[in-house]
Amino acid sequence: MNTISGHIAVADYLVDADALCGLEHACDPTLCRHKSCCGVYDIWVGAEDRERLAEHLKDASTLPGGAGRSMDMHDVLRWVGAGYILRKNKDGLCMLAYRAEDGSVLCSLHSAALQRNCPPCRAKPSSCTLWPLSLTGAAGHRIVSIQPGAFEFPCNRRRISRRPLLHLGTATLIRDNFGIGFLSALEAGLKEAADPP
Ligand code: SF4
Repeated sequence: MNTISGHIAVADYLVDADALCGLEHACDPTLCRHKSCCGVYDIWVGAEDRERLAEHLKDASTLPGGAGRSMDMHDVLRWVGAGYILRKNKDGLCMLAYRAEDGSVLCSLHSAALQRNCPPCRAKPSSCTLWPLSLTGAAGHRIVSIQPGAFEFPCNRRRISRRPLLHLGTATLIRDNFGIGFLSALEAGLKEAADPP
């Protein structure tokens, strides 16, 4: 297992070990009442994301966050020159977000996927599933870390001196975004870095 400047090499990625071990994350919609990632960031939608959207948009349209009619890609995407982003609704949230009665912010793509027993990560744009992790750098040298500003959101808390163990919420993020094999390799790399043979 390679460790490069505090980063663990897994497959073609370098993982910022200190950042990830210092993150406690809980994706809980009740925490989004006052500040939600769906309202703060522009969500870039790449080619693979658009394929997922095309497959799940019809189901999401009929949920409260939908338009009450079958939405098409033009309803939800906006071209901004460098690519497509998701449009916002009148409350400044992603137009696929909706509020439950208690004020929680929910995602209609996520809810529609659950209704179909489909993992939400197969329905939502990849940057939604990645939050609050970040992916930077060129292909083959991509760095997995944490988004700047992540700790300004109530779903993220700093976690001290737990290395080499990842918080369960962080481990789940890694599994959902990179696969169970990647998570196992990362956990082995973290243990080896903490207690070299
Ligand atoms: S697609 Fe869903 S998770 Fe992503 S920004 Fe919109 S509401 Fe939030």
